Amino acid sequence: MTRTLDICNNFYKTKKISYEDFKFLMELTDFSELNKFARDLTIKSFGNKIYIRGLVEISTYCKNNCYYCGLRNANKNMTRMRLTKEEILKRVEAASLLGIKTIVLQGGEDDFYSIDYLLDILKSIKSNYDMAVTLSLGERNFDDLEKLKEFGANRFLLRHETYDEEHYYKIHPFEMSFSNRIETLYKLKELGYQTGCGMMIGSPYQKLINLYEDLNLILKLKPQMVGLGPFIPHHDTPFRDFPHGKISDVLKILSIVRIANEKVLLPATTALGSIDSEGREKGILAGCNVLMPNIGDEKLRQKYRLYDNKIGTEVENSDDFLNLNEKLKKIGYEISLDRGDYKGDGRYV
Ligand code: SAH
Ligand code: SF4
Repeated sequence: MTRTLDICNNFYKTKKISYEDFKFLMELTDFSELNKFARDLTIKSFGNKIYIRGLVEISTYCKNNCYYCGLRNANKNMTRMRLTKEEILKRVEAASLLGIKTIVLQGGEDDFYSIDYLLDILKSIKSNYDMAVTLSLGERNFDDLEKLKEFGANRFLLRHETYDEEHYYKIHPFEMSFSNRIETLYKLKELGYQTGCGMMIGSPYQKLINLYEDLNLILKLKPQMVGLGPFIPHHDTPFRDFPHGKISDVLKILSIVRIANEKVLLPATTALGSIDSEGREKGILAGCNVLMPNIGDEKLRQKYRLYDNKIGTEVENSDDFLNLNEKLKKIGYEISLDRGDYKGDGRYV
C-alpha cells in the first residue's frame, strides 16, 4: 500500500490525522490517489448524483469590512442594491419551476432585513413551496436565529473563515469577533440547523498549520455542510495584490474533508469554477456532491462581486443551471433534484 492510501485509510477509520500526515497529503504533487479515495466515499454515500441548491443573492449592502471581500462596507466603488420580499419570492418561484427544492438566500450583513421582514419572507416561502431554505446572511443574534429556525429555516451557511484567532484578525478588522463567529456556529448546530462552516484556501497570511486547525474544527464541530473554495483577490480591497488560492490545494482539502465525514454536504463552489473553467468538475472528482447554480435576480448578479472574475454574473454563461446536467454527464454524474438533507447522525429536516 502507498503511504497516501495508508494515511487515507487510517484517517477514514480513526477520524484522526497527525499534522505530519496532513502535511504529507498537502505536499503531494500527484494527488490522484487522494482524490479517488474521497470520490469513492462520495459515490458510496450519494451514488453519482449531485444535489442542486439554487443560490439567490439578496443584497450587496454589508456593514462589515472583511479585508478580502468586494462587498466590504468601505468599498465605495460597489453598487449597492438589494431584493425586496416580492423580488425574492419571484426567484423562489423560478427555482421551483426548475424543480429545485433548496434555495440559498445569501447576502452581505444588511440591517434592512429586520427579523420581522425575514420571518415574513420565510412564512411566504414555507406556506407556498416544498422548499428547503438555507440562510447565508452572516452573523445574527441568537434570538433571531431561534425565530428563523421556528419559522422554517432549515440550514445555515456561516464559514468560520479561519480557526486561528491571530489569522482571523489579519483578514478581518478588530470590530469583528472571532469568538462570536465560532460560538454562532455551535449555536446553529444546537438549534437544529444543518450547519455549514468553511474557509477560503490560500487566503492572505494563511499557513499550512491553519488549514490543519480548520480541519480539526470540522472534526470537532461536525458540521453537516462545509463550504470551501480558493481565495480570489478583488481589485477594490486591501488584498488586491495577493495571489489567488491554488486549485491543487483546494482539491486536496476537499478530499480530506470528504474523508473526515463521508456524509457531509460538500459543494464544488463558484470560486472554484472561477479560477479554472473545469474547477467544479474537478471538485466533484475530488469528492464534492453539491452544486449551487446562481438563479438569482439579474440586476444583482452583475453587482454581487465578492472577488474578481466571478462566474455566474451573466445568465448565459457557464453557471447556467440548464447547462449543468450536460457538464456533469461528461464526467459520469447527473443532477439530483432531491432536497438533499443531511443523512448522517441526527435527524434533520
Ligand atoms: N456575508 C455573509 C455571506 C456572503 S459572503 C458571510 O460573510 O457569511 C460568503 C462567503 O464568500 C464568505 O464566507 C467568504 O468565505 C467568501 N468570500 C468573500 N470574499 C471572497 C474572496 N475574495 N475570495 C473567495 N471567497 C470570498
Ligand atoms: Fe460582508 Fe460577508 Fe463580504 Fe464579510 S464576507 S464583507 S460579511 S459580505
